Amino acid sequence: MGAISLRNVTKAYGSGPKAVKVIHGVDAEIPDGEFIVIVGPSGCGKSTLLRMVAGLEAFQQGEIHIAGRKVNDLHPSERDIAMVFQDYALYPHMTVRGNMGFGLKMRKHDAADIARRVADAAAILQIEHLLDRRPRELSGGQRQRVAMGRAIVRNPKVFLFDEPLSNLDAKLRVEMRAEIKRLHQASGITSVYVTHDQVEAMTLGSRIAVMKGGVVQQLGTPDEIYNQPANTYVATFIGSPTMNLLPAERAVAGVQVAGTLLDLTAPPSNAPLLLGVRPEHVLLQDSSPWRGQVSVVEPTGPDTYVVVDTASGPVTLRTGAQTQARPGDRVGLAVEQAHAHWFDAGTESRLVTS
Ligand code: ADP
Repeated sequence: MGAISLRNVTKAYGSGPKAVKVIHGVDAEIPDGEFIVIVGPSGCGKSTLLRMVAGLEAFQQGEIHIAGRKVNDLHPSERDIAMVFQDYALYPHMTVRGNMGFGLKMRKHDAADIARRVADAAAILQIEHLLDRRPRELSGGQRQRVAMGRAIVRNPKVFLFDEPLSNLDAKLRVEMRAEIKRLHQASGITSVYVTHDQVEAMTLGSRIAVMKGGVVQQLGTPDEIYNQPANTYVATFIGSPTMNLLPAERAVAGVQVAGTLLDLTAPPSNAPLLLGVRPEHVLLQDSSPWRGQVSVVEPTGPDTYVVVDTASGPVTLRTGAQTQARPGDRVGLAVEQAHAHWFDAGTESRLVTS
């Protein structure tokens, strides 16, 4: 059994006819040492799920196990977890040292043990020089480090992170993201991290659970999520610019997209087809019969995004910064078989190529 095990975990807010189900039977086995990210749009239930693991939300059905112990009925303080929130909730009148050691003091650790653990955590987080300051004398990033320090000193079995970086500006977010990754690599403590940010999910997660409407749509490695998305929701949620989805039809010698025959093979199925292509896999190819007109050229620095209006609607491609494409140009587009994703247009599930 993993460090955390969720079995058919189900939750509704309210009761009786007014009950609103927000978590619909989630199953997950999280092995020891894994860094799992739960990602999804606002309201999909990710914080609720994390709070259920923490013991902050009761639930109606299913089981949660931490380190081999069923914890359904255990108080948060008995679960051997430490949580880091976006709201750091540091005590303003205490120093950094006091804030970091407070939880241990409440648990009646002796002073020497507290001092040692605080010193170790401060060294890991490189905040030794801040130990005697109060929260108001710290920057946002430093406060976030203290909040993490407070969690580290407990040496828990599991870290739970609830959008810990959303209050920070973009540059600091990237720095702290790397810091959290380093912290996990150094400590090896099983971590569950909730975010709505797909880049955080891809960069931090050893596995990612993509949620929508209280249901885990796919649980997989970043590579699986990006390269074999289970459905159109996952395919378009992860990746920026988003994956192009084009209605397609099987033909005798290929696949037709808006009446143009492309040299592609769709999986054997009678389902109505959607062809998915990531922007980096749409190629500009003069000789291609699949035509369109460039409508927008967006340089981003390293890459340029080009939007081409086609008979199937706009298709976005990502090209190098040196692209010659200009609005108004007529261009040909192409896709390689290896980079074509196929979905059932009815169920929106991935069709597997045999
Ligand atoms: P997320 O973290 O993905 O933004 P939440 O877990 O906070 O989503 O919320 C999931 C759903 O549960 C949302 O539809 C939200 O409105 C609802 N919800 C959250 N908390 C409560 C509550 N205390 N009472 C009723 N509904 C709630």
